Amino acid sequence: MTAQAALQDAGYFDALSAADLLDSRYGASSPAQVIDGALKYFGRRFALVSSFGAESAVLLHIAASVSKDIPVLFLDTGKLFGETKRFRDQLTADLGLKDVRSISPDQNDLSSSDPKGALWTTDTNKCCFIRKVKPLEHVLYGFEGWASGRKRFQGGVRSLLSHFEAADGRVKVNPLALWSKADVQDYISDHNLPRHPLVAEGFASIGCMPCTDRVTDTEDDRSGRWRGQSKTECGIHLSFAENTRVLAKN
Ligand code: SF4
Repeated sequence: MTAQAALQDAGYFDALSAADLLDSRYGASSPAQVIDGALKYFGRRFALVSSFGAESAVLLHIAASVSKDIPVLFLDTGKLFGETKRFRDQLTADLGLKDVRSISPDQNDLSSSDPKGALWTTDTNKCCFIRKVKPLEHVLYGFEGWASGRKRFQGGVRSLLSHFEAADGRVKVNPLALWSKADVQDYISDHNLPRHPLVAEGFASIGCMPCTDRVTDTEDDRSGRWRGQSKTECGIHLSFAENTRVLAKN
């Protein structure tokens, strides 16, 4: 038996090979084809992660057109806007999503690291780590592929995204990676999708309440996140090693 065959026989999942294979098949496909391809490949080991934010209705609507049974993981950090949770409930009902799971931080982590709920005022990286990164890592156990709504036009580290990438032993699926902002807006209009209520109040990218600000017409969508800090990502899209490095800097 070859080493590769032995690894497969032992149930080892080779994320890098899987990402390469899927990208060779669906690297230039539509978002629905990307999701359908991922679902066929991973089966029940595929989930979608959604913040139920400003543009989340697009990916959720496309996913629902493929299957309403795909697990949708929602990180309820304990610091979200009430509007976001009501939007989650509305979209879940409107789209008929059957498996939306709200994930909370570990109570022991909150008690030991953020007993007053004010960690975000002194250490946003650690706050994101215990409220987002760790809970997601925990809930992703057993999943081999997971999708999110990141797009190249959002800039920064996202500007080189492909439809499939390997990270920390899983395949991250980015069905909207190649879409422009106009594609997203057109899809919302064409399908008459509901908007997160805070979009009308000037919020373009919506995360936790303490770390989300309105943006002006001349700013990019994510500039209201962690305003005034060099931080641009919460950490769920960094590798575990990168998160460890970020935390060690503080
Ligand atoms: S976005 Fe802000 S409040 Fe939310 S987990 Fe990160 S630091 Fe904490």
